[in-house]
Amino acid sequence: MTTDANNTDFPALMASLPAELLARMQEIRQDFLASLPGRLTQIRHAVSALEGLDGEAAQAARTDLARHAHSLVGSGATFGLPDLSVAARTLEEMVSQPGAIASTALRTAVAALERSAATTAPPAPVEALPVAPAPAAEGPLRPVYLMMGNDDGAGDLGDVLAAYGYQLSVFPDAAGLAQAVGGSAPEAVILDVNPHDLAPGAAQIADARGRRIPTVALSVATGFAARLAAARAGCDAYVVKPPDANALVDHLDRLTERDPDQPLRILIVDDDATLGAYYEMALRSAGMHTRLVTDPLQAVEALYDHNADLMVTDLIMPQCTGFELAAVLRQYDGLLALPIVFLTADHDAETHRSAVRTGIDAYLTKPVDLGDLTEIVRARARRARQLKALMVRDGLTGAYNHPMIQDLLVSEVARAQRDGTALSFAMLDIDHFKKVNDHYGHGAGDRVIKGLSRLLQQRLRRSDMIGRYGGEEFAVLMPHTGPEDAAERLDQLRRQFSEIPYVHGDTQFQVTFSGGVVGLRPGLDAKALNLTADAALYRAKNAGRNRIEMG
Ligand code: GH3
Ligand code: MG
Ligand code: MG
Repeated sequence: MTTDANNTDFPALMASLPAELLARMQEIRQDFLASLPGRLTQIRHAVSALEGLDGEAAQAARTDLARHAHSLVGSGATFGLPDLSVAARTLEEMVSQPGAIASTALRTAVAALERSAATTAPPAPVEALPVAPAPAAEGPLRPVYLMMGNDDGAGDLGDVLAAYGYQLSVFPDAAGLAQAVGGSAPEAVILDVNPHDLAPGAAQIADARGRRIPTVALSVATGFAARLAAARAGCDAYVVKPPDANALVDHLDRLTERDPDQPLRILIVDDDATLGAYYEMALRSAGMHTRLVTDPLQAVEALYDHNADLMVTDLIMPQCTGFELAAVLRQYDGLLALPIVFLTADHDAETHRSAVRTGIDAYLTKPVDLGDLTEIVRARARRARQLKALMVRDGLTGAYNHPMIQDLLVSEVARAQRDGTALSFAMLDIDHFKKVNDHYGHGAGDRVIKGLSRLLQQRLRRSDMIGRYGGEEFAVLMPHTGPEDAAERLDQLRRQFSEIPYVHGDTQFQVTFSGGVVGLRPGLDAKALNLTADAALYRAKNAGRNRIEMG
């Protein structure tokens, strides 16, 4: 992974610089250690208050004391001070029991706590954190090397791959390829060779650090023997020549683990800001987008605002418990299915039973293993997102389905009007698509529809929303974009799409689309935007197709 000095994208930076991450982890731990004297003073004050009070006031001081102690149980364990955690637990249990507390016992417990805090803390455990997948889409093109003896069609292939975010460099022989790989490693290698010429293991290519680079065999041979030879050589995929661009890109995406998903969005609720920052750091370094609230009463708003896929919450907080928070969330339709991961310093069976009764998704005890946290959060958030996607996405293309893109149009129009920002809406329709079906069959037609959807998803901005409106018709919502810019961007895509060859048996064909674009302006609502874009599309069709018109 390369390091870009100008890259201010924090998660990406953390992922590419484990040393930085560790430094930040240490910083958070230092913050905690620095806050320790203050926390102990609060505990001493609470103890003095408790001794001078009775009745309700004493009870309030006791609750306060229990809360301060409890906070040290969790953070002490997390930041490598197990003795502190144990001493804090003793104190917490003592003040949480009903009935009077002997003053000497209380003072002994506090003294033990102070002693454990005074012992020098061992160095923080250095944990290996999972590294984020490379950020996908937009950005620079991803390098792919092609070894091809005679330059037959490499240029065309390069153009097509560029449309999907890959930069192709061509090398005439194995020596040239090896030298280039040694210099600057690509994300994948394509070998245009007769597989029978490949020695076993010959396609097992590694970069300078010994990491395996995935390889794709490209060959005119269709038979089993050739595929077997390629597999023995160590090729990871096999594509028959002339290559179908979609099939080739599918393999490259899969092999280079291009993750078409947007980063998972996680809300963390913990009244202890230091611990919260610690969890945030771990999840961010795994590529997730996090938000932290220290007051559970703000969780609902933050969940909607952050559009969270999952919530991680502390269990014991002063305003309400994590279980209570979960019960409140279940009262909102939109949050009914939200996965919740609880973090707690409590090990007791009753807490565990309550957790199970609340229908929680996962339950981790402090000190939380950051690797476990990341894996559990990732797995559950992904699954939740997949389920959500099934409801709102089109099965063939993965684009939003018709009802969803309509909903998004309404909400984006409202948002743009409220914030006074630009918004463009486009309708796209594949030209003479009936002929594609008639000449090459519905399977080929489906591949074309998928191809257009994929191009839109890969080449538009992350914030743009793509919907499959009907058969071969797409709608695109572009926030913060004026109609001129939107039309220009879509026109680029129109040109790129028209150059992509689709392979059907021995023949190749190309397909075009037309589009109508409209920008939000005063007096237009969602419905009017829709009609205006549709009218512009109709004009584009009448004017000869393969063009973008503005409405
Ligand atoms: P125009 O340039 O005017 O848009 O012509 P067209 O042929 O693209 O438009 P028309 O709307 O007449 O035909 C669209 C065809 O798309 C009709 C329908 O059979 C086909 N179609 C709709 N959904 C699918 C699908 O999911 N897969 C395939 N293969 N074809 C589909
Ligand atoms: Mg059409
Ligand atoms: Mg149509």
